[in-house]
Amino acid sequence: MPSLQSVISCQSDYDPTALPVDQANAIIAGVLEPVQGVEQLAIRAALDRVLAYDVISPIDVPPHDNSAMDGYAFAGQALAGAGGNIALEVIGTAYAGTAFNGEAQAGQAVRIMTGATLPPGCDTVIPQELVEVQAGGNLVRFAADAVRAGDNRRQRGEDLSRGQAALRAGRILTPADLGMLASLGVAEVKVRRRLRVAFFSTGDELRSIGEPLDPGCVYDSNRYTLHGMLRRLNVDLIDMGVVRDDPAAMEAAFRSACETADAIITSGGVSVGDADYTKQIMDKLGEVTFWKIAMRPGRPMAFGRISSNGHDAVLFGLPGNPVAVMVTFYHFVRGALHRLMGADVAPLPRIRVRTTTPIRKKPGRTEFQRGIVAAGPDGDLQVRLTGEQGSGVLRSMSEANCFVVLDHDQGPVAAGDTVQIVLFDGLI
Ligand code: AMP
Ligand code: MG
Repeated sequence: MPSLQSVISCQSDYDPTALPVDQANAIIAGVLEPVQGVEQLAIRAALDRVLAYDVISPIDVPPHDNSAMDGYAFAGQALAGAGGNIALEVIGTAYAGTAFNGEAQAGQAVRIMTGATLPPGCDTVIPQELVEVQAGGNLVRFAADAVRAGDNRRQRGEDLSRGQAALRAGRILTPADLGMLASLGVAEVKVRRRLRVAFFSTGDELRSIGEPLDPGCVYDSNRYTLHGMLRRLNVDLIDMGVVRDDPAAMEAAFRSACETADAIITSGGVSVGDADYTKQIMDKLGEVTFWKIAMRPGRPMAFGRISSNGHDAVLFGLPGNPVAVMVTFYHFVRGALHRLMGADVAPLPRIRVRTTTPIRKKPGRTEFQRGIVAAGPDGDLQVRLTGEQGSGVLRSMSEANCFVVLDHDQGPVAAGDTVQIVLFDGLI
C-alpha cells in the first residue's frame, strides 16, 4: 500500500486542522488497497459477500424463445393484411417444460402456457383473455388488431446471453444475484475473504454493562453501535472491550489488534486533550495523522497504519461522542472498509427534499444532521430534524431515518427550502 505521507503530499491545500470531508476521503481511498485472499462458497452462503471475479454466463437465459403469457402461439405474419377477425385452428398444446412436438402452419395455432418453448413456426402469442374459443377448443378467433407480430414472446438470451458478464468482480451479492447465479446453473462462486475488524473504546470514565455506574462515569455505548454497524457490513468482529487511558494498556491493545485484524477502530482519545498522548503511542507503532475535519459532528479523527511483529492494520481513531462515532463511521470508515474488502460500491444516493424545519448552518464545514423523512400533506417527501442535535445525543440517531447532509459551502436553511438527505435504510 502507498504510504500516507506520499498520498498526502499529492493533495494541494492540505490543512490537517480544517480538512474538508471529501479530501479526507480521497486520502483514505488513496492509501488503501483490497486485502488478498479468496474462498469458494455455495451460492446461498455467498449472500452479502464480495464477488472476487467476473461471472461469465455459460448459457443463454432464457435458453429458448418462450411465451410470456398463457394464450395461443402462431406466426405473426398472419396479422399482416388481415382485416377484422382472424380464426386459427388449434393443433395442440405447449406446456412449460414439455414442448409441443410439431410445427404450426399458416392458419394454425398452438395453445401455450407461460414459459413454454415457442413451437417452430410461431413467433407471437395472443393472450387467452383476448380470444373466443370455438369448436370445443379446436378453433380460436380474435381481433387482428388485438396483438402485433412478436408480442408476448421472450427471446432466447434476452436476460443474458452466453459469454456475457452476468456479475462483475467487486459486487456485494444480493438476493437477486443469488437467483441470477442459480438461473445460470452456477453452484459456487469465489468471494473475497471476510475482513477482520478489531475495535475498542478508550476512556477512564467508561463502564461496561453490568458494572456499577460510579460517579462521573457513563456506560460504554460506542462498542455497541460499532458492533451493529460492522455486523451490517458482514465483517468478522473482534471486540476488545474498554481500554483505560493508560499508555501501556493502550499500546498492548494496539499491538494485539494489529496482530489479529486488518482494520482497527477505536473511539475516544483523539480530541485535543488526549491527542498528544495517543499520538505518542501511534507514532511509535506506525504512521498515523491526526485530523480536525471540517464537519459536524465528528471533528477530530486519527487515520493511518500501524504494525506490530510484522502484522499491520489500518487504524481509524474515531471521536468519543456517540453520534460523532456513527457519523464518522458512515462517512469515512464504511467506504474505507468496502475498499479494503474489494467491494465496488456506488456512493450513497442523495435525495433532494423540502425541510419543514429551518436549519442553522455556517459555511465552511459539512454537517450531518439527523432527520425524519416522510410524505407530507401533498404526498411529496419532506424532512424534519430530530430535535436536539448534540453530538452526544444518541437518541437523535435512534429516532432518525436519514441524515440531512449540508455541504461545506452551504449557509443557513429556511423552512421550505430543499436539502439533501441520505436514507438510513435500503430495501434489500
Ligand atoms: P473523548 O473523545 O474521549 O474526549 O470523548 C468525548 C465524549 O464522548 C466524552 O463525553 C466521553 O465520555 C464520551 N465517550 C467517549 N467514549 C464513549 C463510549 N465508548 N461510550 C459512550 N460515551 C463515550
Ligand atoms: Mg476520552
